[in-house]
Formats: sequence, C-alpha cells, structure tokens
Amino acid sequence: MKATNFDFDPDALGRKYQEERDKRVRVDGNDQYQEVTGEFAYFVEDPYIAKELQRDAIREEVEVVIIGGGFGGMLAAARLREVGIDDFKIIEKGGDFGGTWYWNRYPGASCDIESYVYFPLLEKTGFVPKQKYTNASETLEYCDVIAKQYKLHDSALLQTEVTATDWDETLGRWIVSTNRQDTIKARYVVHSNGPLNRPKLPAIKGISDFKGHTFHTSRWDYDYTGGNAFGGLVGLKNKRVAVIGTGATAVQCVPHLGASAEHLYVFQRTPSSIDERNNTPTDPNWMKTQTEGWQNERRRNFESIMSGAPVKEDLVSDGWTDAFRLLFGNLKDKAPSKLRVAMWALTSVVSGERYKVGFRQYLTNKVTDFMDLARSMELADYEKMEGVRARADRLVNDEKTAEALKPYYRQFCKRPCFHDEYLPTFNLSNVTLVNTDGKGVDQITSEGIVFEGKEYKVDCIIFATGFEVGTDYSRRAGYQVNGVKGKSISEKWADGLSTFHGMHTRGFPNAFFFGPAQSAFTATYTYSLDEQSVHLAHILTVAAKKGANRIEASDAAEKKWVQTIIQKARLTADFQQKCTPGYYNNEGKVNAKPQNNTYGGGPIEFFALMKKWRSNDNLKGLELR
Ligand code: NDP
Repeated sequence: MKATNFDFDPDALGRKYQEERDKRVRVDGNDQYQEVTGEFAYFVEDPYIAKELQRDAIREEVEVVIIGGGFGGMLAAARLREVGIDDFKIIEKGGDFGGTWYWNRYPGASCDIESYVYFPLLEKTGFVPKQKYTNASETLEYCDVIAKQYKLHDSALLQTEVTATDWDETLGRWIVSTNRQDTIKARYVVHSNGPLNRPKLPAIKGISDFKGHTFHTSRWDYDYTGGNAFGGLVGLKNKRVAVIGTGATAVQCVPHLGASAEHLYVFQRTPSSIDERNNTPTDPNWMKTQTEGWQNERRRNFESIMSGAPVKEDLVSDGWTDAFRLLFGNLKDKAPSKLRVAMWALTSVVSGERYKVGFRQYLTNKVTDFMDLARSMELADYEKMEGVRARADRLVNDEKTAEALKPYYRQFCKRPCFHDEYLPTFNLSNVTLVNTDGKGVDQITSEGIVFEGKEYKVDCIIFATGFEVGTDYSRRAGYQVNGVKGKSISEKWADGLSTFHGMHTRGFPNAFFFGPAQSAFTATYTYSLDEQSVHLAHILTVAAKKGANRIEASDAAEKKWVQTIIQKARLTADFQQKCTPGYYNNEGKVNAKPQNNTYGGGPIEFFALMKKWRSNDNLKGLELR
C-alpha cells in the first residue's frame, strides 16, 4: 500500500518510533526495579487503617479460603454464596474490602472504564453509580455495598496477611498461615491476590539518601498532603514536590498536585497517550429502564468491540470504543474503509482476536497481500496518534513542553489515558516537566533529584512508578504456595507458567488461581474476575455432587493448554517487539517465556470456551478423587 494522502511522513514517523523505542530498551528489564522490602518496607505499610486490629490467633477449618478482598475475592465469595457454599474465609491484608481501590486512593483516582460495566453485580445490588466514570471513593463505597449484601464482613479476616499456603496430602487440606499466627485448614484455596498489587520502586542511585518525605501513590500520605481523593491538598502549599513516573496513575494525580503544591516537578521518562475524557452524570431514569441481563449484555458488547468482534451497536460509546469502533469499522451496518479495516486488524492483534478478524475484512476489501495489511495497520495507528499528539499542541502553551508530552509509539503499546486536566496542568507557572527523554532520573540526593547535572531540590518525592508484573508469582503475592511433596509454585513456574485454563496447575490440587495469566485479559477487569468466580462456583458444585474432594489438572490437559497459549502468543510477538518498553511487553523482553501470556483468542472467545466446558458436568481435564 502506498503511503499517500497523509499529513505526515509515515517513514519518518516509523524511524522516530524505532529511535524512541531503542533508546528506552534496557538490558536489565524488570531488574531495573527494586522490591519494597527491607529499608523500603515502609512504602507498603497501610496508611488507611484508623486503628490496628488486636486479636488472638485463630485455629480453624473451613471449606474455602479466599486470599484477597478485592473485586476478585468478593466476587468469588458472592458467587459461592449464590450456589449455597457459605463456609469460607476471606483473608485480606488491608483494613477493609476493595483491593486495588482500597490502596489506590490518590487524589484524582478514578476508573477509566465506564462504571456501568466496571461495577460488577449492579443488577443484584441496584446501585446507581453517580457518573459514567466513577472515582475511587465511590468504588470503595460500592465495595461496602457488595460486602454488606453478601455478608462478607462476617467471613473476613481483615488486616491479616497470608504468609504461606501448604498442601497436606494426608489431610487433603491446605494449611493457610498468616502474619497473625493463624492456622486455617481449608479444602480449597482461591488465590485472588491481584495482578498489580505489589508497588515497585526504580533502583535509582541514592534512593535511600533522600531526607525529605516520600511515598508511593498506592499508599497516599494524606496526613502529609492534606486533602482527600478529590484534591484540596492544602498541606502542600509551601512544599516543593516531585513526581517520578507519568503512567495512568500520575496522569490522574498530577493535576491535583499542580493545583496545590508550591512547586511541582514531574519527572517523565515516557509520556502517556492522553485523549479526552468527557465524564457525564448518570441519568437515573436510564438505569431504571434497563431490562434484566442488561449489564452482562453491556460489558459483553464493550469487550466485543475491544476484541474487534462485530456488534450491532456500541452501547458504551466512549473514548475506548470510539478508537476501536470508528477506526476498525466493526459495526455491522458500516462498510469499513481500508483504514478502518487496517485498524481493526491491528487491535485484533493487540486485543487477541488477531488476524482472523482482520483477514475477514482484509479479503472483503481486497487488500492485496499481508504486507499491505500490516502497513495499513501501521498507517492507521500513525494517524490516530497524530491526533493525540496534536491535542498536546492544542492544550499546552509552551512548544517545547508540548513536544515533550507527545507519545511516539503505537497507541496500545501502553495503556491509553483519557483526561481533560492533565495536559493543561503544564501551563501553570508552578509546574515544571522534567523530560528525561527515555533515560529516567540520574540520582536521588539527600535534598532532591538530579538529572543531567542539575539538582531539583524538593521536600517530597512521590513514586508513581507502578506495580510489579513480570516478577516471580510468590514475590508478588507476598506468600509461597507449596503443593504436593512441598514443591513450591516458584519452582513449578520457574521456566514459565503452566496451567489449565489459567486457574489450575498440576501438583497444586484444590488451588484456584485468579487473574489474567493464561486466562482472559479484559479492559473491564472485573468482568473476567466475575467469569472466573462463576467458573469456580460451578466446579465446586459439580465436585460436591460427585462426592469428590480432590481436584487437580491432568498432565495432558495442562500441557495442551500451555501449547494453546504459546501458539496464540506468537501472533502478537512482532507488534510487542516494536513497542516502547513497559509492563505490557515485559519491559521490552518480549516472549522470553511465551507461555507467560493471556489467552490469545481474546476474552469473548475465552468466555465462550469456558461456558461450553461448563455446559456438561464432565470437568474434562480435571482429575477428581
Ligand atoms: P505504570 O507502570 O503504568 O507507570 C509507571 C511510570 O513510572 C511510567 O511512566 C514509567 O516510565 C515511570 N518510571 C519507571 N521508572 C522510572 C525511572 N527510573 N525514572 C522515571 N520514570 C520512571 O504505573 P501506573 O501506576 O501509572 O499504572 C499502572 C496500571 O494501573 C495502569 O497501566 C492501569 O492498568 C492501572 N490503572 C488504571 C486506572 C484506571 O483508570 N482504570 C488508573 C490508574 C492506573 P516508562 O513508561 O518509561 O517505563
């Protein structure tokens, strides 16, 4: 395909993307970050508990232990209650339910996925979110609504951290130990510890020399900053503040910091892609007129569009679906242009629906060969990102700053952001963007941050540097899982993940793993957690009917599933390889372990596969005793 009729030079852009990527790739990959242990352990202390719980250690036996009181753990409990399994304990290290939303209360924290699809169980609770895009406070409030409705507090051990889970073959039970010296025996254990739960810090030279105040965004210190999740950070009035990192979290809190701090320095390594937000209040009448099953239909519709699957209409209609729908032309009543087709194919690759969808349209439009298609996809992405970059020019007054805020990579290389106040914040006279141009800061001193020989003296450093993703499972979980004959999950997965449906792994009977690994990846993360919860409830119901109390993936079924994951992962390798590094592409070390991927067929295909698997009571692939 000839690159004609564009307002940009695609070849020059291609070279620019490559240069921007190359200068960011580091040999140390995930090792550039350090664990928040030892002298950094204070970064993960809970600043939100009003009073530390005092209680005696517990010795107990239950049917199910659920580790994690975030949406995953809450949904698992709710779905178990629905099928009549009430003998469970939820163990949560935080002071209450909420998981991600318990920890991430930074000013401006909000969910960039529409609340009507993001909040699970809306039809059961009757809750009406106030706005199309909710915020952290309302999300926590909603967690409490779910907890109350399903009486989860009665079955919870809060402020309690699991330290180990050990399988006892003789007893046929898991022994769950905690930091409060509890010993709980459980027939089943659900591991729902959250994929982005462990904050990470960059291993910047001198990081421990800093004498000022410091914290991670997921443990916001309101005692220091004043204000709350809606802003008003009066404690920063006379403070010079630095933020390290410019990902989705920083994009939401920087406007509040800019509004309150005496001076704010934003240290940027790679800019995020920032499109418009346009939040709107909920029309309560609209909510009332929805008929039964509306929420499932809506979240399915949303994820279908995100997967490039055809739908009759776009129910959510927002920045996410616009990007996919308008550019990919996947509404049935629209004849897709070549550009849309190309973009559709691109996101199909990104989101997992892959080439099969792209190819359908590819043939329809008689694009001549595969190279043409790949080129078309690239051009369409350039065009979309030119729009995002033009937005920076429109909203940021200073030309040099605007240029530095422009992302030069394909849109889905990193999580796209939608925000109306972030870019204009850089017009404030008390806000400085320190663009490290891919390098990151050089050093932290007792008084501030050094980049290219200049020291920026600050009173406070806020790390908006994200969470561990590519590290060992037990390190992220915070506890080890020891299965049959004491073999640990770290040993089992040392050379890569190995599961059946992402949920079971041989050698770890009666353990259920929640999360996207070798399972579905959805933009609406609560959707896949809910599907996993329904799946769990089904398996435990069938096992009870059959009188089984030991459930384990068969060797053959697990090997076959791993092969499925690997085969499908190959298709995205090229795209990810060209992306600027980040946790989406294992910090640039793509496919080092191709089995460490989500299900490549996309979530809608995965959910259908699981539904079919559940349609009879065979539990094929699981050995029951
Ligand atoms: P990210 O991992 O997305 O961002 C971390 C940031 O820190 C990046 O900008 C990174 O730069 C930067 N960084 C790391 N090391 C250094 C260094 N040495 N010097 C300077 N900068 C550095 O974490 P976030 O907390 O922003 O977001 C994590 C995820 O949480 C999101 O991707 C999203 O999935 C979720 N989230 C969801 C929200 C929602 O609305 N639903 C809102 C907020 C977060 P570089 O890019 O160069 O690596």
